[in-house]
Amino acid sequence: MPTTAADSPLHRFAEIALPLPLPRPLHYRIPEGMVGRLAIGDRVLVPFRRGQEIGYCVGFVPFPEVDPAKVKEVARRLDEAPIVGEKLLALTRWIAEYYGCSWGEGIEAALPAGVRKVAARRTVSYLRLLLPPEETRTRFLSDVDVKPPTERVIRYLLEAGEAVPLADAMGRLALSISPFRTLAKRGALAIERRKVESDPYRDAPIPHHPPPVLNAEQAAALAAIGAAVDSAAFKVFLLFGVTGSGKTEVYLQAIGRVVARGAQAIVLVPEIALTPQTVGRFRARFERVAVLHSHLTEVQRGDEWRRIQSGEAQVIVGARSAIFAPCRRLGLIVVDEEHEPSFKQGNTPRYHARDVAVVRGKLESAAVILGSATPALESWHNAQTGKYALLSLPRRVEDRPLPPVEVADMTCEHRGAVGTPFLSHRLEAYARQAMAAGEQAIFFLNRRGHATVITCPKCNYAHRCARCSVALVFHKRAHIALCHQCGWETRPPTVCPECKGTNLQYLGLGTERIEETLKQLFGDAAVERMDSDSMRTRSAYDRVLGGLLTGDVDFVVGTQMVAKGLDFPNVTVVGVIAGDAALFHEDFRAAERTFQLITQVAGRAGRGEKGGRVVVQVMNPQHFSIRRAVAHDYEGFATEELAHRREFGYPPYGRLARVLVQAKVEAAAQAGAERLAALLRGPAAAAKAEVLGPAPCSIAVIKGRARWHVLVKAANAAALAAVLAGARAELRGELKGLRGVEVALDVDPVSIL
Ligand code: ADP
Ligand code: ZN
Repeated sequence: MPTTAADSPLHRFAEIALPLPLPRPLHYRIPEGMVGRLAIGDRVLVPFRRGQEIGYCVGFVPFPEVDPAKVKEVARRLDEAPIVGEKLLALTRWIAEYYGCSWGEGIEAALPAGVRKVAARRTVSYLRLLLPPEETRTRFLSDVDVKPPTERVIRYLLEAGEAVPLADAMGRLALSISPFRTLAKRGALAIERRKVESDPYRDAPIPHHPPPVLNAEQAAALAAIGAAVDSAAFKVFLLFGVTGSGKTEVYLQAIGRVVARGAQAIVLVPEIALTPQTVGRFRARFERVAVLHSHLTEVQRGDEWRRIQSGEAQVIVGARSAIFAPCRRLGLIVVDEEHEPSFKQGNTPRYHARDVAVVRGKLESAAVILGSATPALESWHNAQTGKYALLSLPRRVEDRPLPPVEVADMTCEHRGAVGTPFLSHRLEAYARQAMAAGEQAIFFLNRRGHATVITCPKCNYAHRCARCSVALVFHKRAHIALCHQCGWETRPPTVCPECKGTNLQYLGLGTERIEETLKQLFGDAAVERMDSDSMRTRSAYDRVLGGLLTGDVDFVVGTQMVAKGLDFPNVTVVGVIAGDAALFHEDFRAAERTFQLITQVAGRAGRGEKGGRVVVQVMNPQHFSIRRAVAHDYEGFATEELAHRREFGYPPYGRLARVLVQAKVEAAAQAGAERLAALLRGPAAAAKAEVLGPAPCSIAVIKGRARWHVLVKAANAAALAAVLAGARAELRGELKGLRGVEVALDVDPVSIL
């Protein structure tokens, strides 16, 4: 393939990929002055329909597929040099084919906004409250039923307690600029431009420790990975190591080998684990670390991008999208906690960063390490069949024991007036002992807020979102009933809107309620909460994590945030509240999620010399995922669960795709889903695949849009691709004759709610 038009004098036409749902790149004439200059990977401006679009040059052709006289001309080259390298082009092309989006959409997903923009700005808009908190509260928060967006803004800023970037607030609250402008006009806040500050992670203190001497299993793992790294060979390793077995240390030393050869390494961690503590471990070992996290401004992101492109950054640590970091010479990709569902992108293209990592490793002859204490069954299966090399770390470092895990059967716990309805007696007793000994306890619950349903026992009314088919969650501190799907909120009712009953019940558990319970039970305990409501700023993190180190904090209650990556030697007790809540989801991965969650959270206990213990509160103590998690028996769990998967042809024994159809009118969503199912049935029969549905999704409405879906289940990826190919155009968004129907394709879905 010639890389510039000059290489091939005949090539006066370029293939331009547009980030739109189009079946293929479009052909454009290269203007006289651009021949020989336009290169593959260039960003260009081209006429499209009635306007102009930014696109990417992905190839050259001698003749366009339509009449040359009708082909439009490239309007402008936007940069001095190509913005997408050859390898990234190949990777995004694979993404487009595999996940069923256009090549341009794939490229767009791989480029951060700061790089895509023509000129990124050096200043950023910040929001600052103008009045003291009390005055702000009385003047700008009302008591009306349906809260206007302006009140959400005020509460967000009050909780942050400091100036926050406008873009962050807009993103978090899913709002347009207008409520912010309204509030500025009313004198509540100022929108001010500030110089972009350096990345907040950069100034994190860096404790320098000499690397520990590896134990025998770690050394064996490093030797295997090192051999692949030194010979620059593509090879995928599944590093299966229990929590605290020293996986991170193996990554660090493997990266050391890569850096010594002058190559770069990418480390992917789940967004929620991208804490100063995690990043600090990499900064303590390597001088030039680039960090890509979601709180970077566009400018900061652009700066990091250039440091990576120039080869200055040796190690790139980031969440999902860091898999597209434009490394000059990639030697190793690490995917830590590879089983995490957050590696899957939630909108088009719905790629899985772990799977993209494997493809990228292959394209660039790099080694790939997938690390986990609870590997995804897909990865485990690949290791069993020899596709991945299995490396095991079965013991914790320095032979520290795994913490004993005890089950509290909540169906038998005393629920009388004097009892403690949310904490088992056992967990309460352990927490008391820990506190007396000056040690700390972590309580995990995968739900924010205070009560998860507000109901009327008289008429069975449940307070629901006006736009989604879910119950509103009561947030006591903010005093709102909030939709966790779409952010809509109202004032919590005091009388039943249906029957005017005054006996409304606030049921179900959230982190706020556990926090409150702990404060009531342990009068003088210092309790902190870690969830996305309370952790809006870096200083909030620092306060809690610092408190855990110094012992100023006794108990931390939190969501996923406490389940990942925290490594505090003084945490001796871990409580998992509602440890089997995920079992009630209609998802074939429910057992796997339950096992993973319990194991991960339990892994936060006893990481120091003092040891630790774990209590898991459940309603189904007999379920195999609970029994195996209690026994620290991943392999036993995997064997049992794989038998179920095989029986029903679920991954890893088959491949799934989900076609999600949404529309304002339910009948339209249903009609669309039926049409797609009918279209897919023929190719499915030919490929011996199954079409399941159409059926309404478990969450039947989100943001006023009815949701239906169709599942395709095939024996392998090739069969699945063959089925989907039968409806390519329809799966890309256009359903003829059905207006307002949106179709989204999700290959290898991680959630089918
Ligand atoms: P994992 O990533 O498997 O949870 P880590 O790599 O975080 O485990 O290791 C747990 C702790 O043990 C860390 O504090 C780490 O510095 C320490 N550690 C790792 N390897 C060794 C070793 N070989 N000897 C002593 N300490 C180690
Ligand atoms: Zn909603």
